[in-house]
Amino acid sequence: MLATMSAEEIRSLQRKVLELKRRKDAYIIAHNYQLPEIQDVADYVGDSLGMAMEAKRTDHPLVVVCGVHFMAETAAILLPDRKVITPERYAGCSLADSITARQLAEWKREHPDAVVVAYVNTTAEVKALSDYTVTSSNAVDVINAIPEDREILFLPDMFLGMYVREITGRKNMYIWPGECHVHARVNPQDISRAARENPDAVMLVHPECGCSTNCLYLKAKGELDVDIKIFSTGGMVRYVKEHPDNDYVVATEVGILYRLQKEVGSGDRLKPLREDMVCEYMKMITIDKLVRSLEEERYEVKVPPEIAEKARVPIERMLAISSRKR
Ligand code: SF4
Repeated sequence: MLATMSAEEIRSLQRKVLELKRRKDAYIIAHNYQLPEIQDVADYVGDSLGMAMEAKRTDHPLVVVCGVHFMAETAAILLPDRKVITPERYAGCSLADSITARQLAEWKREHPDAVVVAYVNTTAEVKALSDYTVTSSNAVDVINAIPEDREILFLPDMFLGMYVREITGRKNMYIWPGECHVHARVNPQDISRAARENPDAVMLVHPECGCSTNCLYLKAKGELDVDIKIFSTGGMVRYVKEHPDNDYVVATEVGILYRLQKEVGSGDRLKPLREDMVCEYMKMITIDKLVRSLEEERYEVKVPPEIAEKARVPIERMLAISSRKR
C-alpha cells in the first residue's frame, strides 16, 4: 500500500490522523524505528523506555502505540484504566519471541536463587516471571545494583547481555542465547569497513548489535581505530543533539536516521552502517493503518489482569531506576 502512495496521499492521511486524534482526545506514542510519516504525527517519539515513561505520564483516555506488540503491551500494563490500541496486531519482535514463559520457568528452576533481569523486549508473560525489566540504556545500572553474591539470569538478548557483562565485570551472570535478527547481522568487519570509508565519523552502535562486545574488545586492544559510542536509540538521539557538527555512521535499524536527521536539521552527516538493517515488524505500521486504527479504535491491547499485575512490578522498577537518571 505504502509503495503506491503519493506524497499528497500520505499528507492527506496524516491530516486525517491529526483530526481523529483531536476529536478522540488520543495520544500517539511511536518508536524511533517507525516510518517518517508516523513519526511526524506522533505526540512522542522515542525508545522503548521513553515510550513506557511517556505512557505513564499521559492522561489521555485513548493511547495509540506505534511500535511492536510488546511495546503496546507495556503501555497496557501501565494503563489498566485506559484504552490502549495498536494499528497492527501482528507486529511482533524476533527478540521477544526468542524466549517463552515456559522456557524461563524451566531456567529459573535450574537457578532457584537467581535474580531474573529481562530486557524490555519480552512478552508480558515473561516479564511476569522476572524481577527487573531493563532497556539498553539502564541495563548496566540495574546489574550493578544487584548484590554481587546473587546469580543473575539475563534475557533474552545475548549481545546486550555480553556487552553488559563486559562493562560490569559480573561473573555470575548467565545469558539467554536470544537475538534480534536485524541487529545480529552486524559484524566487526562492517565496522572496520565503515571506519576505513569514513575515518572522521563517529560510529553509533546499538548494544543489541552482533558486534558490540567485539568492538569493545578490539578497541581495548587498539585494533579498531575509530570513535565508537555504544548507545540505546534514545542515547543516540541525545548524543547527536549535543554534537550536531560530527559525521555519523549509525549501526541500528535505519528508521532512527529520520529521527536523528530532525535533530541535526539535515541528513548529510548521517549514514547507516548497513542499508539492510530494516525491521519489517516496525514497518508493518503504515499511515493508512493508523487512520483505521483511530477511526475504529482497534486493535485494543489487553493483558490478563493476573499477568499484568505481576509484570507491572519489574516494569515499575525499571521506570523508578530510569527516572532517577533522566
Ligand atoms: S529491530 Fe529487532 S528488537 Fe527491535 S523490534 Fe525489530 S525485531 Fe524486535
